Amino acid sequence: MALSLYRKYRPQTFDDVVGQEHIEQTLKNAVVTKSVSSAYLFCGPRGTGKTTTARILAKALLCEQAPTDNPDGTCSRCVEISEGVHPDVYELDAASRTGVENVREEIIGRVQFAPTRGTFKIYIIDEVHMLSTAAFNALLKTLEEPPSHVVFVLCTTDPHKVPPTIISRCQRFDFHRLSEKQIIQRLQEICDIEGFTAESAALDLIAQRSQGGMRDAINSLEQVAVFGGGKVSFAAAENMLGEVGDNQLFAIAALMADRDIVGCFEWLATFSQSGTDIAQFVRDLTIHIRNIYVASMVEKSTALPEILDTDTDKVELYCDQAREFGSPDRLAHILLVLGDLTTELRSAANARLSMEIALTRIARPQSDLTLEALAVRLEALEQGIIVPPVALQQSVQQQSPKNPEYSTASIEEPRVSVEASASSRMTTSEVAQTKDDVMPTTAGSASNKDNTASDPENAANVQQLWVRLEREVKARRRVIATLLGGSRAHINTVTGGLLIELPTSAGFAKTSLERLENQEFLREMVKQVFGKPLSLSFILGPPSLTSNTRLEAVSQNTTGNTDNSGILTDDESSSDDCGYGGDVSSGSNAEVFQIEDEESGGIETSIEDILANSFGAAITIEEYQPPRNTL
Ligand SMILES: [Zn+2]
Repeated sequence: MALSLYRKYRPQTFDDVVGQEHIEQTLKNAVVTKSVSSAYLFCGPRGTGKTTTARILAKALLCEQAPTDNPDGTCSRCVEISEGVHPDVYELDAASRTGVENVREEIIGRVQFAPTRGTFKIYIIDEVHMLSTAAFNALLKTLEEPPSHVVFVLCTTDPHKVPPTIISRCQRFDFHRLSEKQIIQRLQEICDIEGFTAESAALDLIAQRSQGGMRDAINSLEQVAVFGGGKVSFAAAENMLGEVGDNQLFAIAALMADRDIVGCFEWLATFSQSGTDIAQFVRDLTIHIRNIYVASMVEKSTALPEILDTDTDKVELYCDQAREFGSPDRLAHILLVLGDLTTELRSAANARLSMEIALTRIARPQSDLTLEALAVRLEALEQGIIVPPVALQQSVQQQSPKNPEYSTASIEEPRVSVEASASSRMTTSEVAQTKDDVMPTTAGSASNKDNTASDPENAANVQQLWVRLEREVKARRRVIATLLGGSRAHINTVTGGLLIELPTSAGFAKTSLERLENQEFLREMVKQVFGKPLSLSFILGPPSLTSNTRLEAVSQNTTGNTDNSGILTDDESSSDDCGYGGDVSSGSNAEVFQIEDEESGGIETSIEDILANSFGAAITIEEYQPPRNTL
């Protein structure tokens, strides 16, 4: 192949240009009515026909038939333009150094000279956003008072980098990405003319990979055809493009849908050996999941093949897979995880590790603490699906000198794994009682003195109770509910009370919540919902389990706390590695205050009651979720 296919099949007339009819028609009209602008700005992704259209415009103005909306492409002038040797058509690439120099030289020195042959001089400046400031200034001067014989066509993939002063003097056209359908059609035409036998899956793949750019698509087609000796096979295309085929994408998506984490890791291990770029794979997977997501949202629509830009057979597969995933929310969560992963991969040292972590977040939302992940888990809970607990090796040390009873117990069992089974959790829990335990813990019992929410197993329950509290607050005092927006409840392992995390930007909310009347109201609400009075602390941003942030380090800011006896001093502080207590010098900017309440009360509600209330059915708690994790 002496001439590359791309050059050979470069459009020669306006009508040949695929997918940019809106632009071609406007230009044709301008030529015919002799109202051609002195400057055009062609914007659009690479390979969408910008410079090709610029050349056709040049031919329309300089052809022997000119002015014509349909240049013949065969006269000597048209041929010269095609070959880039016409003396009045200057093609400059601003991305190259010589290009920049030529732009300055041409624009400053020679733009005023009359054209050599025709009636126009045409400057096509590719990647114009790369011009230097000096070159832009020279260009701007010319654009302000353009000689009547000059037409500038400025092409750019990045119009944001072109100075507004330049843009405002140009007629702007935005070139669209081509659809896969348009590209496949063009590739098929070329195959027919060239006598290539092409598998349709191969053309699909090439079109998919070209991301709407015809030039890339045709170049890929050429590579694959040369490789196969005129045969365009899917296997060759897959090999050549280093591409993950649809089969692979459907396979990994099915593993995700099944939450088969082992299968996902095995798949990735095999995949890694193929040497395919993980970042590219993630982009492909994102498109695949997006298609499933769309299918799950508009399954019934007959326009689905159009929306997905694919054929009916494949649409069926997408719909099938959408059903495997169950809900659009789950797919939306996966898309968010993949989005994070794409960003991370730009700087990640170990792409495979990043990918594995993302797969874990996807297959096991309980290892992911974003709101979307929690929504997915909640939905699973509603549907009665048991999500297997995540194998976090994290444990939380529970010690509080303020609670002697508890401290004694903790000598025997100083570290309580967050994976403690539901049953053991329930037996030690005051807040969450087992279903069989219908007797409420009454006031006056030993637990009376133990104003604590810090039963180590109850973090998840605490959060659930907190959600319920927020609901109650909303019913009574909307303003306070608003102030609590985005809050999460944690166990304060130092005081045994509640540690309420507010969004880092919620400084105002925190100050307001600290006001005495609001404190009183909240203490009362806590007493009602949690069944006993608990101390209440607020913190901006999440408490870190690993940074040894010392809450009390900042409790000088306390407004409602007159009793610091429960606060660990350096001497008392155990060297726990997970609790909120720890090194006072960790430099945390967290701010905390305490609300103490020495009263106590009985338990009024069990977790099961609350869940049954919320979901309208009896629900057994099957798993425990730690408030934080290291994954
Ligand atoms: Zn011609």
